[in-house]
Amino acid sequence: MTDNRETQLLSSVPDGLFIGGEWRPAEEGRTLKVYDPATGGVVKEIANASPADGMAALAAADAAFPAWARTAPRERAELLRRAFDLLQERREEFALLMTIEMGKPLAEARGEVAYGGEFLRWFSEEASRVQGRYGPSPEGTGRMIVSQHPVGPCFLITPWNFPLAMATRKIAPALAAGCTVVIKPAELTPLTTLYFAKLLEDAGLPAGVVNVFTTSTSGAVSEPVIRDPRLRKLSFTGSTQVGRTLLEQSAQGILRTSMELGGNAPFIVFDDADLDRAVDGAMLAKFRNIGQACTAANRFIVQRSVVDEFARRVTERVAAMKIGRGTEEGVTIGPLIDDRAVAKAAALVQDAVARGATVRTGGSAIEGPGTFYEPTVVSDVQAGSDILREEIFGPVLAIVPFDDEDDAVRLANDTEFGLVSYVFTESLARGQRMIERLETGMMGLNVGVVSNAAAPFGGWKSSGLGREGGAEGIHEYLQTKYTLTPNP
Ligand code: NAD
Repeated sequence: MTDNRETQLLSSVPDGLFIGGEWRPAEEGRTLKVYDPATGGVVKEIANASPADGMAALAAADAAFPAWARTAPRERAELLRRAFDLLQERREEFALLMTIEMGKPLAEARGEVAYGGEFLRWFSEEASRVQGRYGPSPEGTGRMIVSQHPVGPCFLITPWNFPLAMATRKIAPALAAGCTVVIKPAELTPLTTLYFAKLLEDAGLPAGVVNVFTTSTSGAVSEPVIRDPRLRKLSFTGSTQVGRTLLEQSAQGILRTSMELGGNAPFIVFDDADLDRAVDGAMLAKFRNIGQACTAANRFIVQRSVVDEFARRVTERVAAMKIGRGTEEGVTIGPLIDDRAVAKAAALVQDAVARGATVRTGGSAIEGPGTFYEPTVVSDVQAGSDILREEIFGPVLAIVPFDDEDDAVRLANDTEFGLVSYVFTESLARGQRMIERLETGMMGLNVGVVSNAAAPFGGWKSSGLGREGGAEGIHEYLQTKYTLTPNP
């Protein structure tokens, strides 16, 4: 299936672990296979780290920390800026690589390169803006100094759904702050991170400042790293379930943590919404990344007087989507990441239908090769259906009607998650009330995508702790020191 361009690209992706500035095989020579979810074929075999490899990566990050923490902020900024520039030059390679290992359509992969790159640019700009305070104590008896310091070696764990952006969103602020890192990409999509490490090397990264290990036994290799006192920070993006386990492991060492976890985003359409805009927003909020985004709209909560018209319009759009491998012209729906993801989408639709929902379009898995599920619309989803409680992580748009504003707020907040909410209304006052009332870390008001490197990304409730991006993002990698001195 792979053409020459793909073969050439894949052969230029490193297959080793990146530790202390060197590429090396895993101890014991173990390897793991990486697959193309659109074909089911193996695309590359790479190093499969053992616990000893994980500890070697931590040791390298620890050894590199003192010198990196002392570099001038500008020097760190310039490294990130060179990385940004190199990423622009290699944008097509990164996009194709993500399409191959993760499955998203090429146009979306290009969008991720642009988005992921912005974190390099943004934090190259933020690096020299870390400031402190100096002033008199209230009693006038002394001077108070507040300063910021890098926290130390960090461990970054990323998911498979945005292989580049999840890495740059963590690496860029960590490096800008003066921290060194060990990064462990998801075993399903490790190639993008390996290729990015090579880019950092080309940009002049000093040895040990970024270390990468790939493994099929994430739990066994990560736990000793997390429990080691040399580690000062864990930043995780992934499922709430794994996040809980990692928080438990972090408790012993009182490790600083950032947790970007699952979502169950409501997408509320009021009867005063601009329906064209709501339908455009719905297509983006639901089908971007084949529905496999923590920010994906999970529950379409639509006012009863417009619910039929909304369902009719989205169904028309969804039925026209083109399914296929992301490299094919015009494809808008690629494969899901694996068999389990297909089985999950199928089970959620089945449960919704058994409880009275109607399938308007789609509703079936597609025979292999590849792990595809049809883009689907289900309406009249009944309270108590699993699809309203669980993250779908697939191309299924589930519609629930509501009667009035209180009803919409109650339905929207009825979840353990609070990552993002989408609201469509032409009423400013109603929009403002929703900002006050929705339990959510982010909100799209008449837009279907909110992510931006300049904004604080993160959730409330079980969706996580901390923020990535924005002015806030770098503070996740800094710690505060307060000093009192006598009056001069
Ligand atoms: P996952 O939790 O299964 O895996 C995430 C990462 O953790 C992977 O690298 C995996 O190898 C690793 N991992 C798994 N078990 C581990 C363990 N015991 N110890 C250490 N590492 C372990 O999640 P996933 O399926 O890769 O990603 C999908 C999830 O990520 C969804 O729930 C989604 O909402 C969430 N997500 C959240 C955000 C956000 O910013 N809030 C962004 C993207 C994805």
